[in-house]
Amino acid sequence: MNYRHAYHAGNFADVLKHTALVAVLLHLRKKEAPFAVIDTHAGRGLYDLSGREAQKTGEAGQGIAKLAAAAAVEPLATYLHVAKSFGANRYPGSPLIAARLIRRKDRLVAIEKHPEEAEALAEALKPFNRARVIAADGYTRLPKLLPPPERRGLILIDPPFEAANEFEQIARAFGEAIKRFATGIYLIWFPIKTKSDAEALSGEILARGATKLIRIQLAVSAKEEGRLAETGLLTVNPPFGFDAAMRETLAAIATPLGGASPAKWSVDWLAGEG
Ligand code: SAM
Repeated sequence: MNYRHAYHAGNFADVLKHTALVAVLLHLRKKEAPFAVIDTHAGRGLYDLSGREAQKTGEAGQGIAKLAAAAAVEPLATYLHVAKSFGANRYPGSPLIAARLIRRKDRLVAIEKHPEEAEALAEALKPFNRARVIAADGYTRLPKLLPPPERRGLILIDPPFEAANEFEQIARAFGEAIKRFATGIYLIWFPIKTKSDAEALSGEILARGATKLIRIQLAVSAKEEGRLAETGLLTVNPPFGFDAAMRETLAAIATPLGGASPAKWSVDWLAGEG
């Protein structure tokens, strides 16, 4: 477990993942009934963009830092507002974004396997009394938490992709989870390193029982050899209007994120459109 999200916090992949997270949370908040958020690979929560790791890669500089002048469409506007609320040079990871947007009756469970990251996360989430940290393996813990008593909720699966069989582990965990919580909304992040990556993971998720599925892809021009330039996100059971909202957001960020030419993006229904 060498991966540390501090090197990547606020990069273009985080922008996609976290704007989608905000879109789902804004939707869940529209109804009175409480909901749960389960973040299976939560990270340390709060990142210092002036710190050694972030400065070494400069990824936030090519990501969120470029969005100040982007059109104020939703969910982008709320995402930028929440990120800014943590202070200059600080970037909130998924558990802190969720903690900020859930209501007093909602609940966040954030799972992180790396002991030091889990400890830092517990510290970062101290002010949020609706949030709980579990230091454990997200894949094995997830099924034990389902279905949530609220029967409404979001599961974010955002692993580091260090293991060669990460796609397989995601598919297996998703298969177990959807059997227990068929109406849950699932966000599954993945890097695109080869053309077959997106097809392979989407196929597995469909085979494990997703009946409504959207795939988003976002590609920027590679700034350096070996650096991630394309990312994807699968959304199972996307809420009403999610596709349109994400199209608006992607259209607003494509030019600022892209540099010389706009970033390329797509939002496709792979099953159950509408
Ligand atoms: N979701 C976070 C965010 O958006 O801010 C970023 C998470 S980062 C991509 C992946 C995290 O998963 C790392 O902090 C890593 O330590 C942790 N991790 C790795 N394997 C894990 C496992 N099996 N279960 C839970 N966490 C794990």
